[in-house]
Amino acid sequence: MNHATSYDIKRERMVEEQLIPRGINDPLVLEAMRTVPRHLFVEDAMAARAYDDHPLPIGAAQTISQPYIVALMTQALGLKGGERVLEIGTGSGYQAAVLSRICDRVYTIERIDSLLGRARRVFDKLHYHNIVSRIDDGTIGWPDEAPFDGILVTAGGPKIPEPLLAQLADPGRLVIPVGDQAVQELQLVEKKDGELTVHPLEYVRFVSLIGTHGWDS
Ligand code: SAM
Repeated sequence: MNHATSYDIKRERMVEEQLIPRGINDPLVLEAMRTVPRHLFVEDAMAARAYDDHPLPIGAAQTISQPYIVALMTQALGLKGGERVLEIGTGSGYQAAVLSRICDRVYTIERIDSLLGRARRVFDKLHYHNIVSRIDDGTIGWPDEAPFDGILVTAGGPKIPEPLLAQLADPGRLVIPVGDQAVQELQLVEKKDGELTVHPLEYVRFVSLIGTHGWDS
């Protein structure tokens, strides 16, 4: 069995055993999770564990999220295809890659140079050309490209950053972990007819959202 085949089998098993039994049922999300080669988004030494049911370190004290959490956050955006989505916290680039298989264009912001550099190399290698990325404080969003149909924040903050709410389209959905630096509640914020509604999803543990509208460090 060659490597590609063994990764394909692991990826299919991840979908069948970790995602579907936990309620991931959106065909677009399942197809994206079946397609994106997660093992390319981690260091070679971690590749064999890339499809396991937990987060993994990606360097710079950051992590690639558990596959189920990536699928859950993507599903919560309720994407139909063709949207423009903003992600805060590129990290390994895996979440942006999953979004890029569903959306028209993904804008992603990371604050750590080395992580974004590696993620960009993987996007290029996979020819995922509809991902636009930059180094910045993502808590202030990407005003020049707003509004966004969906916004995903993949680091935990003390509150929902105001600029992101302002840059959300109407209708639009934003998903963010909110809480302290140990445990957060994953929240889905829906904007519709000018009203915001917050739906709690589940408790999660994310690394910290650091920036003007996040934590100081
Ligand atoms: N989405 C990533 C993936 O698929 O690998 C996982 C992200 S990791 C859990 C959180 C990331 O958020 C880290 O890479 C961290 O550097 C980044 N981050 C934290 N605060 C940020 C901010 N204000 N702006 C942009 N990125 C930030």
